[in-house]
Formats: sequence, C-alpha cells, structure tokens
Amino acid sequence: MALDIHKIREDFPILNRELYGRRLIYLDNSATSETPREVVEAVVNGYTHTKANVHRGVHTLSQEATELQETARRRVAEFINADSSDEVIFTRGTTEALNLVASSFGGMILGKDDEIILTVMEHHANIVPWQLLQARIGFRIRVVPMLPDGALDLEAYRSLFNEHTRLVSCTHASNVLGTVNPVKEMIAFAHSKGVPFVVDGAQAVPHMKIDVRDIDADFYAFSAHKMYGPTGVGVLYGKREWLEKMPPYQGGGEMIENVSFEKTTFAELPYKFEAGTPDFVGIAALSKALDFMQRTGLDNIASHEHELLDYTTRRLEAEVPDIRIFGKAPGKCAIISFLIGNEHHYDVGMLLDKLGIAVRTGHHCAQPLMRSLGIEGTVRASFAIYNTQEEADRFVEAVKRVSAMLQ
Ligand code: PMP
Repeated sequence: MALDIHKIREDFPILNRELYGRRLIYLDNSATSETPREVVEAVVNGYTHTKANVHRGVHTLSQEATELQETARRRVAEFINADSSDEVIFTRGTTEALNLVASSFGGMILGKDDEIILTVMEHHANIVPWQLLQARIGFRIRVVPMLPDGALDLEAYRSLFNEHTRLVSCTHASNVLGTVNPVKEMIAFAHSKGVPFVVDGAQAVPHMKIDVRDIDADFYAFSAHKMYGPTGVGVLYGKREWLEKMPPYQGGGEMIENVSFEKTTFAELPYKFEAGTPDFVGIAALSKALDFMQRTGLDNIASHEHELLDYTTRRLEAEVPDIRIFGKAPGKCAIISFLIGNEHHYDVGMLLDKLGIAVRTGHHCAQPLMRSLGIEGTVRASFAIYNTQEEADRFVEAVKRVSAMLQ
C-alpha cells in the first residue's frame, strides 16, 4: 500500500512553519527528527495526569507512572528483539549509553597492554569516552580506515585484530556519509576471535529494522530524539551476561538493594544502571514514537527515504556544477553530505536557511573523518519519512541558486 505522506505530515505541526515567507523544509533529521503529535501528547499527558516519581511509591499515581515506564521498556525490548526487557537500560541518549559502556564495561575488561578497534567514521560520542578511559588505563586505540566510496575497509578491519584486541566499537550508520556498516558480518568476525562488539546505533534505528539478537551485538546504543521520540532519553541494550558482571556506572537512588556505610549492594538489572530519577515522562512517550514507526512500517520508512535519497542525489549531481558528495557506499542511508566548489559549508547553509531550508553545516562531531577527507566540514541534508519529493525539488533548486549566487 502506498504511503500517504501528506497524511503523515498532518501529525507534525512544526512542518507548517514558515521561514522568511516560505514553508520550512526540514532536512536536519540526522541531528534530530521532528516529533509526531501522539508523542507530544504523551509528554503533555504525563505531566498533566500521571506525574509521580517511579518505583518508590505505593500510591496509585506512582504505580501508574512506573507501569508506563516499564511498558516502554518492554516495547523497546520487543522493537529491537532483545531477549528480555532487563537488557534495556534507559539513559539520556546515545552519548550517555556509550559513556556507560566505556566506563563500566571497558573499565572492567581492558588493561594497559590491550587494544580496542574504532573506525575513522565514528562520532565523537564513540571516540572521546574511550579516550577518557584510555587516559586512566593506557590501552591502544586502533582505527579502521575507509575506502574511497565511504565504505569501511573490511580487509583492514580484519587485519587489525591480534592477540591484544579486547573490544570493537563501531557506528552502525555514519552520521556524515550515510554509510551503513555490515555490523552483523563484523560482529561475527570479532566473536570468532572472542572479542565483544559495541554498536553505536544512533543513525541506524531511525531508518531500519534492528534485531540485536540477529546481529549478535554485545551492546547497542541509540537516542529517542532521532527516531520521532522525545529529547533526553536514550537506550543502551546490553547482553545480560555482560550487564550482570559489570559494575554500576553511577551511584545514587534506584540502583541499590541495600546501603550502609560499611557495604552497599546493588539492585538487579536493569536498575543497577539507572541511578537517580529517570526522565520517566519522556520514556513513556518513547513508546508512542515506536507505535508511530511500527504503524508507518519500518520497510515503508526505509523505501520512502531511499527514493528521496536516490532522486535528490541524481538531480544534484546532474544539475549543480562543482558539487562534491561525500559518501557513496552502496546501501547508504538517507544522508547527503556535500560541498559546492570551494565555497564554505557555513555560507551555503546560511543561504539555504534564508530560502527556508534547514540543513546542518560543520564537522558533524566527526573531526577525524573530516581530517581523513581533507576537509573542515560539509553541508548535510538528511531525510525522514515526512519529507516529500516536492521538498527535494525545492532543495535542489535552492542549492542551484545558492551555487550561482556564490560563484
Ligand atoms: N552517534 C552518532 C552516529 C550520532 O549521529 C549522534 C548524534 N549526532 C550521537 C552518537 C550522539 O547522540 P546524542 O547526542 O543523542 O547522545
């Protein structure tokens, strides 16, 4: 059945905004997606009708709030096909999830003579937490390079393994190039060497069906705000066998079983990793974002975005002189990073904004990748389910106009 994108757009009132006398075209979805009405309503309802702190109360409101949060946990587990909702830990976002893994899991398994493998296309959120740990422990970080089309060099990946390799952490999809890495195959190789594998799924979960058991990830991190959900909520999936062995990441309320000044014991999974009051209103609203995605259909989302990606790429390449698109790996997701001639990405982004088009400019928190491409930044357009072909046309016309203005 064909999707009615105009009907879907009705659920996103922000898309009716006008900027400088033109209807907004929102192409900054990789930074954060817009939010459908049902998610916003869940937040409003949470604050209006059920706000009470979770877990600590016997009173009805607290029980209702707890039930909403735990229902969301079960929904997330089912959405990513986790074995159990105990393996779903709520965090503030992908960044906090990756810091949790680095600090707790990395701190537990890594020693000074060990090595870990990252890739050249990692977001800073999957580099800096490891470097912070490295400063404490002293292991070596090795980096998988990429091929000219923006795919990872898998031969180089395999050749980086040696007897010191203890962990791999890799993005599922690049937030700059759109490259979708073959994590299932990469994980199988790492596991054949007895090495656990962490996946940064921030850019993959919004665009494709994720099955953590099928890919056999040891950890998988993502953010609600990039997948039609609320801000301030993220998920860390971890295999039970690891989570049970790992020490807590933060201490505080909720994560304990018994506290005394002599000895404190910790709560069961998943609460051991959820110190303090979580964003329980946001967590409950995440359920609604999952409802939205599943009702729309993950395959429908993927195919609609791919159509827009292919169409826009084709037109840009045919019609914009001097355009350079970074990232052409087969099967990439709907992200177009580009530069026009020698023009500064910032100037292009500013002019597109004046034409009512929101794109991101800069290094996209991936400075090592920028360095390897020999550039300082790009202009990035990224698509979501509510973008239309008319918007793609207006975007291409705007890029042509900006290109003519600047050159
Ligand atoms: N990893 C990737 C690949 C990302 O694109 C982002 C967000 N730009 C992050 C991690 C960090 O996500 P958050 O800011 O939601 O924690």
